[in-house]
Amino acid sequence: MSSAINHIGLYWQALGGNNIDQISGHCYRYTDVIENRKGMLEHTTIIVDLGKFDNHQALGVKNSSAAIPDIRGLLAEGVDTAKALFLTHSHPDHLNGIVHYLKAGYRLPPIYAGKYTLMILDDLLEEYKILANRHPKCKIINDGDIVKIGSMSIEAVAASHTCFDSFGFIIKSPNSVVYHTGDMKIDSSTYFRKPTNIRRIKQLKNEIKCVVADFYGIYDDGFAVKEVDTFKKLVSLIKKSKKNKIFIPVYPTHPEMYIIAFLAALKLKKNVIFFGNPDFYTYLNLIMEYGIDFNRIAGNRIKVIYTHDREEVAKLDNNFVVIGTYNHVSLAFDANSQNSFGIITASTFFNPLKGAFNAHNIRFISVDDAPELQGFGHGFLGDYEYLNSILEHPIFIPTHCPVFVIDNFRELAKTIGMNLIGKTPLNNEIFRFNGSECVKVQSLPAKWLVVIYNDDFAYLKEVFQCATSGMGFLKRTISNRRCLKRFKMYIHKRKMGNGIKKA
Ligand SMILES: [Zn+2]
Repeated sequence: MSSAINHIGLYWQALGGNNIDQISGHCYRYTDVIENRKGMLEHTTIIVDLGKFDNHQALGVKNSSAAIPDIRGLLAEGVDTAKALFLTHSHPDHLNGIVHYLKAGYRLPPIYAGKYTLMILDDLLEEYKILANRHPKCKIINDGDIVKIGSMSIEAVAASHTCFDSFGFIIKSPNSVVYHTGDMKIDSSTYFRKPTNIRRIKQLKNEIKCVVADFYGIYDDGFAVKEVDTFKKLVSLIKKSKKNKIFIPVYPTHPEMYIIAFLAALKLKKNVIFFGNPDFYTYLNLIMEYGIDFNRIAGNRIKVIYTHDREEVAKLDNNFVVIGTYNHVSLAFDANSQNSFGIITASTFFNPLKGAFNAHNIRFISVDDAPELQGFGHGFLGDYEYLNSILEHPIFIPTHCPVFVIDNFRELAKTIGMNLIGKTPLNNEIFRFNGSECVKVQSLPAKWLVVIYNDDFAYLKEVFQCATSGMGFLKRTISNRRCLKRFKMYIHKRKMGNGIKKA
């Protein structure tokens, strides 16, 4: 039990996700303290997300396999034992800490998550060979479901992100009401799944006092790229290329792109080849198991194949789109500069493929030329201005964003009338909410648990968090100076805009 949690209030602590310079390993703790009928303080604790920190190599522990947030104190028997783990969505930086805890012999509280998230978790449990009797209890939740845990109630709110069943949570206690957004943008054009439930958020506008917000995309102005814009861009590029064979590599963990690329092919009556690495097929199978039936959607209009078998490919009349995760173009496609065109939908992942295209003189376009190709799962500045406009001046508590970006954002926040938390929260600090009042009650140095496997058992080693920029594979992409300059420009733009309105 943390001695800082000793008054009535709703407490919040980032255990990962508010890192110094990188953004992964998300994990947040909420503890509600109320006075019960006997006049005693009663604690209820839940955890939201349990991800892995991507850049574990930079923490400098030999033979490390991962790094995870430290929730050991919340798993031990005591006043602060977590009663539930809620998952916002299926991405590794929000989910993959779970298996390492199980591998280290811990038992986890019941897990509440969307159907697709639990499918991905099941897949992980299998991959890590976790025995059935060690599996945590899992319960599927849907948009609008309310789960009561002790003195808190947690309502799932659909969120537009890059995978199915992404949620934010409305966390209500007698002490305050928090909207924990999870990864999300305001986009009502999602395919085959519910968009961010703005209607529900508007209904709760007088109740929501704090927004624990995904600030990943705060650096970009306007609204985040909408799925329909990505779709339209793909259609127009394929059309304009006038080529018969189109290559569209997609990120394995972003199922929305599999679907958008498929729909673009369908619109232009091009056959589809799903082609990629084992990771790609794992996710593709999950998408189909989830209920997306590509053959049914295709009807008689196009053929869909799931191999790059020469004979199968030959049946496609040299008119197809290759959707998948690949870094070379298979010989089976007979691709050349005359008949082929590439559309690269992510900035770094597919670099070797660019080389392969160049070697065959195949023309291609990338996200550098058309940013909307990447799609985007996180709100931009405009999304958060909008959210602020439909709520009643809640306190915004940024997460999922390097601390220096948030510090640079302060002046801009003031300009747009956003009530940003007074000091940027760092991992391991504890804040207490009472209504819309928010105070920091504890700051301890942040740490990670580095995971080392020996004989199929996970050993956890405590390492203090340090700046890890430029090390490992996940390099810092925004410089401090450029970030500040960009925000100054937005401030200028807003002020000019206001001037014009007044005139
Ligand atoms: Zn995500």
